[in-house]
Amino acid sequence: MTATILYIEDNPMQVDLVKHVLERDGYEVLIAFTGTDGLEIALAEQPDLLLVDLRLPDIPGFDVIERIREHPELAPIPVIVMTAYAMDGDRERFLALGCNAFITKPIARREVLNAIHLALQNARCSAGCD
Ligand code: MN
Repeated sequence: MTATILYIEDNPMQVDLVKHVLERDGYEVLIAFTGTDGLEIALAEQPDLLLVDLRLPDIPGFDVIERIREHPELAPIPVIVMTAYAMDGDRERFLALGCNAFITKPIARREVLNAIHLALQNARCSAGCD
């Protein structure tokens, strides 16, 4: 079964790069360039995992994650944060929201894929290991 990943990121070059890496690994990839679009697509498509950039043009990535976590159907979706630099309070907020991994750009292909594999595996196990 192919997992669907929603990538919320405003930088088109970063989107192209990550999309390519994920698709080569067999994932289906949905893209949102703003937090608002990301929330809309998450609701409509119920992806298996979210990859979220923290600096988005409309609403901060953490606010997007907070809204995901508050939503009964979306709350269990694993979330991986991607950022070029962590600001004061980012790591605390990351932990408080129960995100699965914190990846700093520039991204290393292996690091991203490993974090995704692990998060999807954990999510499947908490839904009942098979
Ligand atoms: Mn950004």
